[in-house]
Amino acid sequence: MTYGDNDPFELEAMIALRRDLHAHPELGFEEVRTSDIVANALESAGIAVTRGLGRTGVVGTLRVGDGGRAIALRADMDALAMPDLGDVPYKSATPNTMHACGHDGHTVTLLAAARHLARTRRFSGTVHFIFQPAEEGRGGAQAMLADGLLERFPIDAVYGLHNMPGLATDEMAVVAGPQLASSDSWEVTFHGVGTHGAKPHLGRDAMTAAAHFLTAIHTIVARRVDPLQPAVVSACAISGGDFRALNVIPDEVRIGGTARAYAADVRDQLEAEIGQLAAGVAAMFGIRASYGFNRRIPPVINDATATAAALAAARAATGKPVITDFPPSTAGDDFAEFGSRVPGCYVWLGNGPAVDGALHHNSRYDFNDAAIVTGARYWTALVEQELA
Ligand SMILES: [Zn+2]
Ligand SMILES: [Zn+2]
Repeated sequence: MTYGDNDPFELEAMIALRRDLHAHPELGFEEVRTSDIVANALESAGIAVTRGLGRTGVVGTLRVGDGGRAIALRADMDALAMPDLGDVPYKSATPNTMHACGHDGHTVTLLAAARHLARTRRFSGTVHFIFQPAEEGRGGAQAMLADGLLERFPIDAVYGLHNMPGLATDEMAVVAGPQLASSDSWEVTFHGVGTHGAKPHLGRDAMTAAAHFLTAIHTIVARRVDPLQPAVVSACAISGGDFRALNVIPDEVRIGGTARAYAADVRDQLEAEIGQLAAGVAAMFGIRASYGFNRRIPPVINDATATAAALAAARAATGKPVITDFPPSTAGDDFAEFGSRVPGCYVWLGNGPAVDGALHHNSRYDFNDAAIVTGARYWTALVEQELA
């Protein structure tokens, strides 16, 4: 890779690298090739590298001057298990594996900024570049934390970025407060007493209990959660009985679904209310319900002070007004695992128009290389301002 003042972010090389990563996507915790490339690109810029955090995770550390403050910038590296139906020359060469969320772009954008910062060194303090594996539902952030990320690399603030189609590539959105919802799953099993379909009075019907539960569950958001607080409870799976035995009332009916919220207390409330409703409906029918709530990802909630820093950096990076009223999403990102432990801010970087209507997780999605320079400028400005 070459470097010059008129090309501070090595754009030609970085675009080539982004396309190379797009052509060679790897699923969560399998980012062996990608993390090798990342580690080598950091090391060759003189950045200290720690490998193997969260299996395939990489942390680059750059210390400049005697500033005591430390911040972390996080990029995710993983792809999704889906086909690449795009018609670009760098389309995925790996069957059923694709960078459909633009994490190839996140990786390269942070690398471009890290290499630039290692050359220019216009700050005083410590910056850790976190290259996280397995963001797409496989628990990469948790795995890095379990390997002692925050103990080994103490930080005062953490920053994340995600590409967003529909915003121009020189446009960013930075919003305080909730950005992404918590993403939890739950399961209820009604344990009745199976019997002949013709003689329901001889058993205890779990099927009818399940039906009552399914209609009553929507009263949680409608009647129990504060109407000014967003929340979603959805039942997404049900099983019980057998279509080859339509004269048998089954012993058990199992129901599962998702729960989403932006506030910690609403998240706690959903966990409690779903279980209470299941127990109440079961009691009504003289049966028992078992219940499990699996806390998967906390909400991403931007800290006010970190958001102010991000906003200033986004203004410096784009040279134009930053969108500050971008609506939150009910999707999730495990950046929340970092942001719920350390003050943090997660921002949106424009990816240009949605080409052929392709949005995140679409089989034709492609990170827009024109966004690399905006993102790298943002990371650079953030470090230079945060560690002034
Ligand atoms: Zn995604
Ligand atoms: Zn993503």
